Amino acid sequence: MSETSPSPEKNAALMEKIVSLCKRRGFIFQSAEIYGGLNGCWDYGPLGVELKRNLKEYWWRKNVQENDNIVGLDGSILTHQEVLKASGHVGGFSDPMCDCLLTRARLRADQIDPQSGVAYCYTGASHEESGWSIEREYAVLLKEGQDENKARKTARLYFSQFLTDKQISPKKIELAGERTEEVRESTRFNPENGSLLTEAREFNLMFKTHLGASADEADESAVAYLRPETAQSIFVQFKNVLETNRVKLPFGIAQIGKSFRNEINPRNYTFRSREFEQMEIEFFCREEDGMALTDEWLERRLAFYEEIGIPREHLHILDVPDGERAHYSRKTYDIEYEFPFGIQELEGVAYRTDYDLSKHREHSKKPLEYFDEEKKEKFIPHVVEPSAGCDRTVLALLCEAFDEETITNEKDKEETRVVMHFSPRIAPVKAGIFPLLKNKPELVKKARQVENLLKPFMTVFYDETGAIGRRYRRQDEIGTPYCVTIDFDTIGENGDDLIDTVTLRERDSMRQQRIPISDLRNFLLEKIH
Ligand code: ATP
Repeated sequence: MSETSPSPEKNAALMEKIVSLCKRRGFIFQSAEIYGGLNGCWDYGPLGVELKRNLKEYWWRKNVQENDNIVGLDGSILTHQEVLKASGHVGGFSDPMCDCLLTRARLRADQIDPQSGVAYCYTGASHEESGWSIEREYAVLLKEGQDENKARKTARLYFSQFLTDKQISPKKIELAGERTEEVRESTRFNPENGSLLTEAREFNLMFKTHLGASADEADESAVAYLRPETAQSIFVQFKNVLETNRVKLPFGIAQIGKSFRNEINPRNYTFRSREFEQMEIEFFCREEDGMALTDEWLERRLAFYEEIGIPREHLHILDVPDGERAHYSRKTYDIEYEFPFGIQELEGVAYRTDYDLSKHREHSKKPLEYFDEEKKEKFIPHVVEPSAGCDRTVLALLCEAFDEETITNEKDKEETRVVMHFSPRIAPVKAGIFPLLKNKPELVKKARQVENLLKPFMTVFYDETGAIGRRYRRQDEIGTPYCVTIDFDTIGENGDDLIDTVTLRERDSMRQQRIPISDLRNFLLEKIH
């Protein structure tokens, strides 16, 4: 994506193209598609899984492998209920909630004062001139003495959210099927504006399960949860890691793994899913270093995004203001990306103080202090947490990489080239390998040799069907940074000068160069590292 288009229609069309390419080429499929799909869940196809693995491996290398003071962990997904009671996930957000259909304000259903009056009910709306219409039940409650035009105005505003042409004024919308109904002591309407609310639902986002063969639904002691974040197992294993690894403050524990949240409204492709992967580091430190380390981690994370091909200018940093941060956090930055559907969070970098370890010490009654040998001090460390979403980063990589270029082809005709400009280190396939002709055994044999030379070191794709130009386009569309063609020069048919050399074509510039087969592996390894 070279630039974020200002028009919502263009952005929606762009997103559609990306989604369709992902399906067509096997990056991402909807989970259980043949059964109608499992909402909020996605399967990564052959190319998607390579892309995701490359991202995770690079994150691991940069954070764990290349840092002396960060170690890894792979905690269980099934989580002890006491862990999540201590962290505040159980019991914390389990109230029945409903949303205002007009403003999307979320209200505690049990705190809405019952109201009486006349409900103005509608079945939909339309706009004659543009041919737009919608069928949807909606209602507005008017209290005694309120003007009926207020109900119509509110209803028009509600239906205007669904207009495809945002230039149309809500005033121009025709309401359909108006009828009135006496309402007594109802909690179905927003007391602030009379708008209908959604049905009340439990707002605990965690997936609950029961452990054991004889698990009985009523047996509370068998309850476990699918973890809603990877962070908690890090806190819970803090002492074990400390005692087995001779680590000294400041140090981090990193984890990549699945998390689960029963999101009420999964949307924007994979952006808000119910099952997703996180890449988190809990970086433990002394209190006096917490604020500075938060800024330092923000910079490190921004550099990481640049290294995988998401430039700084497409990222936004939100310094989350007081009152909007989690109550225990002294500083939080949200790193946001310009997705076609809006600027949205990719990662949070939060200074969580000593809140988590203190809570687990309190609930488990186990000592979770750190002992500083030099200063002879014992204390609960503070923690800075860079917490990134793997799926959201994959989505950002796909959006960033997607491009449609107009180029002049070999026949001097203009054509559209769909190309994914993935950085070579992230690209799912590193090189396409093509024998010029498939019916020439010497070419095929040599191409297979080149394939075997590279295969143990990187993902390559052998392709012998169709014209070379077509083969290039197929690789451009999936973001393969290099293509290697084995031709008559390679097998010495045009003399000895170019024997055992191949044509190497670079995806973005489309430039071609001649390179000896013996240099190929190192050349590519350097580019994709
Ligand atoms: P949001 O406000 O978007 O729900 P959050 O602030 O609740 O996100 P965190 O709890 O801070 O998210 O989780 C850290 C990271 O995990 C997020 O920045 C995001 O990349 C990822 N993440 C969280 N929820 C989801 C989800 N439902 N689907 C995909 N990724 C998610």
